[in-house]
Amino acid sequence: MKKIAVLGSSGSIGQSTLSVIRNFPQQFKVEALSVNSDILQLKQQIEEFKPRLVCVRDKYAAAKLGSGLSSSTKVFCGEDGLIEMVRDSRIDLVMFAITGSAALGPLLSAIKSGKDIALANKEALVMAGPLLMRLARKYKANILPVDSEQSAIWQSLGNNCKADVRKIYLTASGGPLKNMPAGQFKKVSLDKVLRHPRWKMGKKISVDSASLMNKGLELLEAMFLFDLRAENVEVLIHPEAIIHSMVEFNDGVIMAQLSAADMRIPIQYALSYPDRLANRFPGINFYRLNKMHFEKPDFKKFPCLSLAYQAARQLGTMPAVLNAANEISVNNFLNKRIDFLSIPKIVEKVMRRHSNTDNPDLSDILAADSWARVEAACMCG
Ligand code: MG
Repeated sequence: MKKIAVLGSSGSIGQSTLSVIRNFPQQFKVEALSVNSDILQLKQQIEEFKPRLVCVRDKYAAAKLGSGLSSSTKVFCGEDGLIEMVRDSRIDLVMFAITGSAALGPLLSAIKSGKDIALANKEALVMAGPLLMRLARKYKANILPVDSEQSAIWQSLGNNCKADVRKIYLTASGGPLKNMPAGQFKKVSLDKVLRHPRWKMGKKISVDSASLMNKGLELLEAMFLFDLRAENVEVLIHPEAIIHSMVEFNDGVIMAQLSAADMRIPIQYALSYPDRLANRFPGINFYRLNKMHFEKPDFKKFPCLSLAYQAARQLGTMPAVLNAANEISVNNFLNKRIDFLSIPKIVEKVMRRHSNTDNPDLSDILAADSWARVEAACMCG
């Protein structure tokens, strides 16, 4: 029985994780849950899964949880509480389904406790990938990717050695604005941006998918997870979202991972690894699918992707700056303070003003992150 902590249990990935766990009561037990502030949902989840530990990140929301809980449930709150909770010796695997850089502190804590880590959060890895991977090796913490593309690369690599890899094809559905003329981007509505054609997701990642920044973050994520260079990762638009990424080896053989576009599939694999558990999720009907399409991404129309490649070649603190400037811009777009086209413009300006630090330590990364947040916030007005 694997004892699992689900961080960000009220979000899209968190809920899908709980639905996978619900299917396998013999294999998995929910040991801990955390939410940012959604107390109502947390209460329902506590009732169903009876975790021993829970954490509410928002201290005001945490105060509302107190009454009505059984005394056997231990309640943590705030970032410090989350950092402490993930260290608990009875937790085997921590699912990181928190969005944004807020995952970094708890992730460092879980790595240093040598936990298995199912990683759905990409921002922490983008900020501090080389450092996190180094620590994971040191503390023997397994990082199991949950993002569908990274899971596909992981599964396609199999037991092959990294030296045999020629290239990664990182596939992208193209997002909700793929067929919209660039001239209409300035006035595109929030509603349209949030309506993804293939995946149901949280708001931040939906905006990132529309700007293709999501693919840019995944480029960095893949480089750090699998120790690759930017020039070995090629983004490939594949609107059907059936192939979730491919690995081309030196002998010209390409391995791909295919499945329905359902996040429960990569989530389940990260939880059950190295086993595969039988499920009843939808499969692929090749007769109905009939065709699959591939095209080159339009870097002019989606400048966020070029900016991510630029950060991927520069490395150092630049990926953290790209990520922070993007997070602030996306927040401001969600609050309708800036338009869609301002997102790449602000990210580019902040990157241009940054003096990069090579081989950064954690304090360099955190300093670059806060600097970029302040810069981006000023530009949002
Ligand atoms: Mg993805």
